[in-house]
Amino acid sequence: MIPPVQRRLLLVFAHPDDESVFAAGLACMTVAEGGRVALCTATPGDKGKVGDPPVCPRERLGAVRQAEVMAACATLGIGTVRVLGYPDRGLAFAPTDTIRRQLVEIIRAARPHVVVTFDPNGSNLHPDHVAISRFTSDAVAAAGDGRWFPELGAAHAVGRLLWTLPVRPWDVMRRTDPALEPGADFVLDVSAFAERKMAALLAHRTQMQSLNRIFFSKPDVTRLLGVEMFRQAFGPPLVARPAADVFAEIVPTSEPRFHDPLSRTGSAAVRRS
Ligand SMILES: [Zn+2]
Repeated sequence: MIPPVQRRLLLVFAHPDDESVFAAGLACMTVAEGGRVALCTATPGDKGKVGDPPVCPRERLGAVRQAEVMAACATLGIGTVRVLGYPDRGLAFAPTDTIRRQLVEIIRAARPHVVVTFDPNGSNLHPDHVAISRFTSDAVAAAGDGRWFPELGAAHAVGRLLWTLPVRPWDVMRRTDPALEPGADFVLDVSAFAERKMAALLAHRTQMQSLNRIFFSKPDVTRLLGVEMFRQAFGPPLVARPAADVFAEIVPTSEPRFHDPLSRTGSAAVRRS
């Protein structure tokens, strides 16, 4: 088991506010136990809503939303935030090689035990959500193989990749016991962090219309904010579903060294040491 103070979590999402909607409680819980959390957001969300009344002119929305995600992360204790700056609603067309390289660099720097991203259907079929899901899977695979981008540091094998649920978690909580929902492989009680999650959501001032619709207009908002759910894409087999600890059963391994950086031939020899 990885001691809580050594745990590292990386969230990879498409827009400012995705992190607070889907994984704020997990981030808070990880930080509260002494671990570290990093966030990569692929777009500044500049095609989103500007607020009603508008918080800013549309041409400033990208900059304002970047400031909002920084404020939300400060609230959640997320220590590292990177906004890649791909076009909002255009992420699917990001050059594959470029974004793979960027994400591999982030993964090898953060060296997360657990990575969280959207499920392959992007939770709500938003094309940017779908795109970041596949780019993240691609990069997680590449990051663990030292033949990719050896100049970006030692390969890092992620222990567990988590997706958001195939359906929206707040809908699951309305209609059934989350434990019975297929895909709810991890059901986390984050009620101790509901207030912090609420503060992070409120930092996304430009997005209050949709956040009101999802959370704040609901009489059971505190209950909705107190549970988060994730689906296991890959990782150690789960003894029981749903599980409650996303770091469970991950064995920290010595770094794989499929590439010998001293070799001038570039052969993929395995070094034994
Ligand atoms: Zn989004």
